[in-house]
Amino acid sequence: MSEMEPRSLTDLFASHPDDLVQPFQIEGLGIRGRVIRLGPLVDKVLTRHNYPEPVSRMLGEALALTAMIGSALKFKGRFTLQTNGKGPVSMLVADFWTAEDNGVGHLRGYALMDDERLAESIAAGRVSTADLLGEGHLAMTIDQGADMERYQGIVELGAGGLSAAAHEYFASSEQIATRIRLAAGPLFQREADGHAGTTWRAGAIMIQHIARDGGLTGHRETEDAKPPTDEEENWNRASILLGTVEDHELLDPALASTRLLYRLFHEDGVRVYDPSDVAFGCHCSRERMGSVIRSFGVEEIDDMAEDGVIEATCEFCSEVYLFAADELKEGLE
Ligand SMILES: [Zn+2]
Repeated sequence: MSEMEPRSLTDLFASHPDDLVQPFQIEGLGIRGRVIRLGPLVDKVLTRHNYPEPVSRMLGEALALTAMIGSALKFKGRFTLQTNGKGPVSMLVADFWTAEDNGVGHLRGYALMDDERLAESIAAGRVSTADLLGEGHLAMTIDQGADMERYQGIVELGAGGLSAAAHEYFASSEQIATRIRLAAGPLFQREADGHAGTTWRAGAIMIQHIARDGGLTGHRETEDAKPPTDEEENWNRASILLGTVEDHELLDPALASTRLLYRLFHEDGVRVYDPSDVAFGCHCSRERMGSVIRSFGVEEIDDMAEDGVIEATCEFCSEVYLFAADELKEGLE
């Protein structure tokens, strides 16, 4: 994004607010950041999974967070966010990669849960992210391909949910002062023809402190993630403004991300860069699914087969693949 010229906000007020990543910079405060708006994409993912509402909400936030961090990577590769916890939702997985030909980001995700424990938790009103995920960890993995080193940062899940865990990740792994707000929720909409329904939306906003040499704070040898004292005031101001963002402002389809940025930071000289698109993208295939099942071995394949047929569903996109057990066992001992 740094190669692109910033554009004035008023040019972009008319830009479409959905399924996009909107980078920005606040020159007066030494801040860079991005806004994520997810509309049809997150509605498609969450509607297809059809999880109980608190799980959809949490996965919606995880998708927005994944798009935020994944789209900020400077190099090509897949970014994966995964939680593992002792709560009723044992796992959330989301991943993001950017297509090299058109720059479109591809996002997908799913959740694994214990239905019985989840129902008990919901009935008891324990529906916060901390309640649902329980004690555990959040892992962020950057995979740059077969020949490249894989990088993984792991932080504890705490009472502050996904955004607090992400703050911890940036502070400990990258030493970049970072603040993130996440929101996801169902939006009740009535169409012109009177038809009413609920659609899912998710949004996020992040700010990061830029050091005076133009790099991010983490690129210098600082002892902690905080900017130097003389810049603390600017950072605090930006953090306080970020704290005023309401969930509905991150979710409202009528409020363009550029207008939200103007509302928050116009006094400080906020500039926006060209937004990039995000689309649902699953890279599962029959071949890949087949090789996963083959890796379990002959005995397992026989156990999985019913009347000689194995049915395998992609957790991310719900695509169903059918295999003949004999076909999968070919060449296996
Ligand atoms: Zn799939």
